[in-house]
Amino acid sequence: METKNLGFNSKLIHSGQFHDEFGSATVPIYQTSTFSFRNADHGAACFAGEDDGFIYTRLGNPTIGALEDAVSDLENGYKGIATASGMGAVTSVYFGMLGAGAHMVAHNAVYGPSRMVMETLFKKFGAESTWVDATDAQNVIDAIQDNTKLIYLETPANPTMGITDIEAVVKIAHDKGIPVCVDNTFSSPYLQKPLDLGVDIVLHSMTKFINGHADIVAGMVVTKTEKYYSEIRGAMMNIGSNMDPHQAYLVLRGLKTLAIRIERAQANAMKVANYLEAHPKIEWVKYPGLKSHPQYELAKKQMNGPGSMISFEVKGGLKAGKILMDNVHLALLAVSLGGVETLIQHPASMTHSKIPKADREKAHITDGLVRLAIGIEDVEDIIADIDQALAKI
Ligand SMILES: *Cc1c(COP(=O)(O)O)cnc(C)c1O
Repeated sequence: METKNLGFNSKLIHSGQFHDEFGSATVPIYQTSTFSFRNADHGAACFAGEDDGFIYTRLGNPTIGALEDAVSDLENGYKGIATASGMGAVTSVYFGMLGAGAHMVAHNAVYGPSRMVMETLFKKFGAESTWVDATDAQNVIDAIQDNTKLIYLETPANPTMGITDIEAVVKIAHDKGIPVCVDNTFSSPYLQKPLDLGVDIVLHSMTKFINGHADIVAGMVVTKTEKYYSEIRGAMMNIGSNMDPHQAYLVLRGLKTLAIRIERAQANAMKVANYLEAHPKIEWVKYPGLKSHPQYELAKKQMNGPGSMISFEVKGGLKAGKILMDNVHLALLAVSLGGVETLIQHPASMTHSKIPKADREKAHITDGLVRLAIGIEDVEDIIADIDQALAKI
């Protein structure tokens, strides 16, 4: 059905959905590697791009296509490119947009591997990068070179919760003809729509909020217009970081409850953040919903809510933080986020351990920083769990 004029919650249920010849209520899993052509001319037309018939699942598949259409619709984009994982989305963008001699300016606190793969693998192929604190747009301007081909942001950033003024960076970049990509994993399109703020490319680890149930890894890229789409899609298809139809089916299922899951987790997170901020054993808390967050006003302006990720440091640093992490029972000591369960982890020794300590510190990822991903449990239970663990310090 036509979903363009529907509200966000209705789009979550209906975007991308199609009903097969049996009238199925949900999009079936087209578990097939290849598709037969009606005749030789039809096959040739599919390969020539004159017919949008399916050819081979690495290139496209109805179940995967339904998910691409759904997320693209939610982001107000042109088209989606589904990938096997969030890193499949990140590297498809890098492969599509960069090359030998190209340069990228990026925010210094992003998902650890998004930075690490650039500074190792892509460097090996001759692409350069400069990592700056993009929460001050001036730093982005200062880092732009003649060969800068992409500006790469993550906001709120992982794990510092730093917020970049998307419109300010887009203006600087577009004045110089440079495209901007935003990793929107922490917000999902429910809380932030980077393409509406002028961004050219948005990507997701759908492993997190979009799927929301901690049972698969998956990724997505959405471009604002046709520009950049075919480069990135071509990269995804040829490096083989495509999604699997069964994976697409599960994400389509998880996606439908995105808004109600986020509303609940966010309401819980606000209470947990207030609890932590008032606790005498806590040194600092970073949560965009707290007035103490340095970009509180900016978060209110460019996001529809502060989300459910919190970073903080216990007084006594890493040693005290470890006691907390070793003594929680309800919260799982695990990386990832955006699922229904509360998770706690330590970025300096886990998700960001491959980033050299000096670079981590420049990006404010201190050794004592603990990251909480709040779930949809009863908030009283989440707080009681943290409270009894803090009492052990
Ligand atoms: C998890 C994550 C990724 C990588 O996604 P995978 O699905 O684990 O490959 C990228 N960006 C952010 C912000 C993430 O949280």
